[in-house]
Amino acid sequence: MALPETTEEVSRILALAYEEEFPVIPRGAGTATTGAPLAAEGGLVLSFTRMNRILEIHPQDLVAVVEPGVVNAHLKEALAQRGLFYPPDPASFRFSTVGGNVATCAGGPRGLKYGVTRDYVLALEVVLPGGRVLSLGTRTLKGVMGYDLTRLLVGSEGTLAVFTRITLKVLPLPPARATLAAGFSSEAAALEAMQEVLSAGLLPAAAEFMDQVTLRAVEFEPEEIRGLLLFEFDGAETAVKEEIGRAADLLRPRALFLREARGPQAEGLWELRRSISPALKKLGSRRFADDVVLPRSRLATFLQQARQLSRTHGLPLAAFGHAGDGNLHLNLLFDPPQEPRARELRREILELVLELSGTLSGEHGVGLTKRAFLPAEITPEALELMRQLKRIFDPKGLLNPGKIFPPEGV
Ligand SMILES: Cc1cc2nc3c(=O)[nH]c(=O)nc-3n(C[C@H](O)[C@H](O)[C@H](O)COP(=O)(O)OP(=O)(O)OC[C@H]3O[C@@H](n4cnc5c(N)ncnc54)[C@H](O)[C@@H]3O)c2cc1C
Repeated sequence: MALPETTEEVSRILALAYEEEFPVIPRGAGTATTGAPLAAEGGLVLSFTRMNRILEIHPQDLVAVVEPGVVNAHLKEALAQRGLFYPPDPASFRFSTVGGNVATCAGGPRGLKYGVTRDYVLALEVVLPGGRVLSLGTRTLKGVMGYDLTRLLVGSEGTLAVFTRITLKVLPLPPARATLAAGFSSEAAALEAMQEVLSAGLLPAAAEFMDQVTLRAVEFEPEEIRGLLLFEFDGAETAVKEEIGRAADLLRPRALFLREARGPQAEGLWELRRSISPALKKLGSRRFADDVVLPRSRLATFLQQARQLSRTHGLPLAAFGHAGDGNLHLNLLFDPPQEPRARELRREILELVLELSGTLSGEHGVGLTKRAFLPAEITPEALELMRQLKRIFDPKGLLNPGKIFPPEGV
């Protein structure tokens, strides 16, 4: 493993890798759920642990400049002290890095109102395979000079270039924030109620959903609650009060319980949301974790049909996540002897997503675990164009090899 401290060192490592022809695998905190930062075929892991400085925060320009190893939460804390806000909030924000977030185009609950990492990356300093250093993008909030290579690199999973400096757009910190939790007797009732709130001209920062399997895994009580919604509203205090009141009025007729929370109480509810992933371990020693996105109007239909498939195969399926923007985290739990059945169930569920005009990943990316499904969603022509782009950036195929693309001929 290499632990560079400067762009110059990264450049020298990538130059040496090209000369000696060994693979290089960029790595942030290693939290990707897709195997994207794994040295699956060997090679040198390029860790950004030591490039973790916040270089600049500029309140007038609404810009922050960071090294890639800065932990998302550390940036949020530093900005909050200046009255500023960096919205992208993957549930891993306490430990994942901005570099990893940019390379996966990470999202989070607040994506509903604020968008995802892509919407905040203004400029990148990158090192190309071979060692050339390049500056892309602008420090301004707008800019359309030439092709948008910055955006091409956001979400490229460390396969095209290595980021050494990241310029981000930031926002003023909303002065008030409140959470509204609502429990329902069924998953369908929860999803219908969410649609009602989001169709009433309200735009919460977040609208999260937990299904019955998830609620039992996190030991949520009472057991009659089979679908839970968590909303966050932010903005001026008067606006938050008014919006949360309107949302509560819409939810009250169907909800079995309704609770408004602020401060530590609200944080407790969001901690519950963040505790899901470890809690699901008790339902099976292995899992297939996907993060599909459906058009929001089709979420309920999808969940009902996916639940039916999971019953047919006799394996538990947990669905939770950013339902407000149609993004569901699906965890299919199983023990090793059940793996063939689990694989088949996963295939059927992912096919269902595509049939309903969805996409197979909203924020986690492809890595190793979804590469076999890329041709199911991307046309052969688009896939070939992507392969050509990879060859332009990385002619020897040495940067994070084996990720995103299925092996040739598959
Ligand atoms: C409990 C948990 C909850 C999660 N919740 C969410 C969520 O809500 N939303 C979400 O989007 N994701 C989520 N994730 C997935 C993961 O945290 C994100 O993908 C995150 O962005 C990865 O950041 P990282 O620093 O761990 O990067 P890594 O996992 O180390 O790397 C991810 C990718 O980025 C590349 N990379 C890293 N640094 C660089 C660099 N400097 N230059 C070029 N490429 C680089 C790597 O090669 C790899 O392809 C979750 C993961 C866990 C474990």
